[in-house]
Amino acid sequence: MSTGDDNAVPAAEDRTGARIPAAEDRAGSLVPAAEERAGALVPVGEWPGDPAGPGTPVAGSAAEVAHLAASAPTLAELVARQSVCRACPRLVAWREEVAVVRRRSFRDEPYWGRPIPGWGSERPRLLIVGLAPAAHGGNRTGRVFTGDRSGDFLFASLFRCGWAEKPTSVSIDDGQRLIGARMVAAVRCAPPANKPEPAERDTCAPWLTAELGLVASDLRVIVCLGGFAWQAIWPLLGRCGLVLPRPRPAFGHGAEARLRNPQAEGEILLIGCYHPSQQNTFTGRVTPAMLDDVFTRAQVYATPETDGPVTQR
Ligand code: SF4
Repeated sequence: MSTGDDNAVPAAEDRTGARIPAAEDRAGSLVPAAEERAGALVPVGEWPGDPAGPGTPVAGSAAEVAHLAASAPTLAELVARQSVCRACPRLVAWREEVAVVRRRSFRDEPYWGRPIPGWGSERPRLLIVGLAPAAHGGNRTGRVFTGDRSGDFLFASLFRCGWAEKPTSVSIDDGQRLIGARMVAAVRCAPPANKPEPAERDTCAPWLTAELGLVASDLRVIVCLGGFAWQAIWPLLGRCGLVLPRPRPAFGHGAEARLRNPQAEGEILLIGCYHPSQQNTFTGRVTPAMLDDVFTRAQVYATPETDGPVTQR
């Protein structure tokens, strides 16, 4: 369901003056090729809490992503625009194919099948950056790290460290809430084999750049889950006006870098964290204690007036 404010924003004009189509204008291309599949996707505006509505402008190219991201007047409108993007043909085809074919265990559930927008506090002290949504996790539920085993692992730690209301995140309407934190993916659409291509990462980058810019004045900590997120966000931090150390520190679990933030006359702490992928958690490369170390460190840094970490066990 979209908000009235979201719907009030008119479709954007691109730099050459040509109108960028709204969601309703592109409805005919919701499912690639197979017309019989069109009815399997939930129409824009009809998902619980859908940030977009029929009037939300839809990016169909890298140039349109750049324009619509940079011109979004509010975080709510930015999120709405992210959620209907169709700029990467390979990823659009994959996310919708997965949403239509579905995994056997979820075959009776509707899938989101769209880009996963940023989610959480509008004035976050902590930003958590992941790689991309999972095909049957975020791409199914419509919320990042929700409905898959990586999310189970992650949210349990966020709860223990005082960043989440509940230890699980299973659906868009499960009552979960981030506390002073926000989550985003460097690439917003589920990619085949969890591997976005460099061009797709670059096409999607303006969404993250704009989101960073809108929350930077409150940010104290950024946690990057995995080396992809660490590398993807680095150039974008500079574009947001943050002053970066040189050379770029290598990614590692617990690696840190301090970024001067002229917007807040302070520093943002960037922390590396191994991704809680099934492979990493099954093999013990990342453990609950290791995640807790990172998010406790983030809590202490982001809340300097506290005597210690806020824990819930
Ligand atoms: S990956 Fe990003 S730019 Fe590409 S279609 Fe998805 S939201 Fe749009």
